[in-house]
Amino acid sequence: MWTDIRYHVHLHTIFSDGFGTYREVLHAAARSGLHAVNITDHNILPQEVEGYYTVNGRRVLLLVGEEIHDRVYGGRGSGHLLALGVQRDVAPETDFVTPQTMIDRVRDAGGLAFIAHPIDVPVPYLNEREYSCRDWQVQGYHGIELWNAMTEFKRRMQPGPFALAFYLLFFPLIARRPLPETVRLWDDLLRQGRRVLVLTGSDAHAYRRRLGPVCLRIFAYERHFQTLNMHVLLDGPLTGDFHQDKARLLAALAAGHAYIGHDRLAPPEGFRFWATGPWGTAMMGDVRPLEGPVTLHATLPYKARVRLVHNGRVLHTWRWTNTLRWTVREPGAYRLEAFRFYWGHWRGWIYSNPIFLVDGRWSLVDG
Ligand SMILES: [Zn+2]
Ligand SMILES: [Zn+2]
Repeated sequence: MWTDIRYHVHLHTIFSDGFGTYREVLHAAARSGLHAVNITDHNILPQEVEGYYTVNGRRVLLLVGEEIHDRVYGGRGSGHLLALGVQRDVAPETDFVTPQTMIDRVRDAGGLAFIAHPIDVPVPYLNEREYSCRDWQVQGYHGIELWNAMTEFKRRMQPGPFALAFYLLFFPLIARRPLPETVRLWDDLLRQGRRVLVLTGSDAHAYRRRLGPVCLRIFAYERHFQTLNMHVLLDGPLTGDFHQDKARLLAALAAGHAYIGHDRLAPPEGFRFWATGPWGTAMMGDVRPLEGPVTLHATLPYKARVRLVHNGRVLHTWRWTNTLRWTVREPGAYRLEAFRFYWGHWRGWIYSNPIFLVDGRWSLVDG
């Protein structure tokens, strides 16, 4: 029996350029029904606070990773890298190094490396720069942050201050789907045979701005925690043993046993995507040899428009369903996207990690 863990990744606190405290993060996590929250401040790893906390009767697993970049160049050349589960602070080792060395250092420190906001956008009228990753020859990273809420907000703000004001008032209307160019980038990497997994992150900063006598809190943590979350599938509930649960959660994330959920549209818990073949059953993230027809299956807790994508090509679209089955004979990376209609748009609800079927015609280049 699989247990679905609501896990929020990528947010900032007063330890770097965020405006909220750990205490605020924990209270917001408990109120939002998160099982686990993973803080990632810039180039700092205050890991001694990791552990289980009980807030208003709810248990929350607090994990601390970091978001690293070359501090000399401010991350303009190398981009930003999320380092989850590292056993030591790797930031002191990542100035004046290439993106590849950054990834290698994270792995040496026992961590998972996910490229943050791989394609980011500038907002010139706010002097907001972009922090895209420029080097796509890198290898050995676990995945990319397919859907970064801050990047999407920056894209929505681009038309001008009017758009900014609108979305500040109507936060739930911001999230529609990952940037199409980031999805294309992911599909290109998959087509090349790279085992690239995906994450969603809010990049929440809980900004405070003073407007005369009023202190405005822009996008408090809670709003983000109720919107885009990772859903990690474990082989049983969390036990309450910190070290054991942390290891299980990160191992499942590294295995790709996880999907992105846009929880505000409808609770996605209950989503499953799996394959059956001569070897038995495989789930999201798994790699299996293709030695004959393989059947892909999915169930969803609510009906949605669902697309099956094979190496970047849409194989089939189900217009409105909560269950599907499809037999495939070609090698490649198979993934699912589900959409639901909300306030004038078909919005991304679920993005699965791929199931990888390999043979002599297509296989994975980096293991
Ligand atoms: Zn960043
Ligand atoms: Zn960030």
